[in-house]
Amino acid sequence: MISQRFRGVISVIAICALFTLVSLIISNQGPLMNTSGNSMHFILDAGHGNPDGGTVSADGTKESDLNLAITNKISKSLSQKNISSLMTRTSEESIYTEGKTIHEKKVSDIRNRIDIADQTPNVPLVSIHMNSYPDPSVYGIQVFYGNGDLAKKIATDLQSAINTDLQPNHTKVAKQVSKNVYLFSHISNPVILIECGFLTNTEELAKLKSEEYQIQLAEIIAKVLSDHS
Ligand SMILES: [Zn+2]
Repeated sequence: MISQRFRGVISVIAICALFTLVSLIISNQGPLMNTSGNSMHFILDAGHGNPDGGTVSADGTKESDLNLAITNKISKSLSQKNISSLMTRTSEESIYTEGKTIHEKKVSDIRNRIDIADQTPNVPLVSIHMNSYPDPSVYGIQVFYGNGDLAKKIATDLQSAINTDLQPNHTKVAKQVSKNVYLFSHISNPVILIECGFLTNTEELAKLKSEEYQIQLAEIIAKVLSDHS
């Protein structure tokens, strides 16, 4: 009896140790963050991250930093509306877990983002990016969609709200995302890509760097997302 009870205690300890180990491994995946602890409504994907800064403006502003700043504000605004979101990255670093060269780290980063999307099937992924173009007069926010009608509906509403509130001179419509975007062609979640503006346009860059404009844009995006949650 005593030895059986002892074995039982050992088994319980072993199971607890295993559970703790698994929990540690899961919690070690830093980028995963459920902002409100409820069932997940959206995956928020701040594009790029060190060592991949994405587009870099003439004054040295990195797309990756602006993407994170705006994504953080979208997450916060959604949280205030009791809508849960999961951020693929929460620091300036991208989420690579292996690789020595920048290219290898980018590959690892994209694979990890695909894994996050795969772990939360059917949850719309909203990816935040900045644009660039050789002609510095080009500006404006463009929304793209992929993988089904829900993404198209959200993207259409986003583009419409953005045109009304931020760029009344634009008649942009939401477009199908290019199949060449590796992340989007390797996940089945509804995807929405927001190119928030051109870092090659001086006026748009100044706006995108301002806290006030970032909040304004983030709140428009969060409002539309909340309508579809
Ligand atoms: Zn980008």
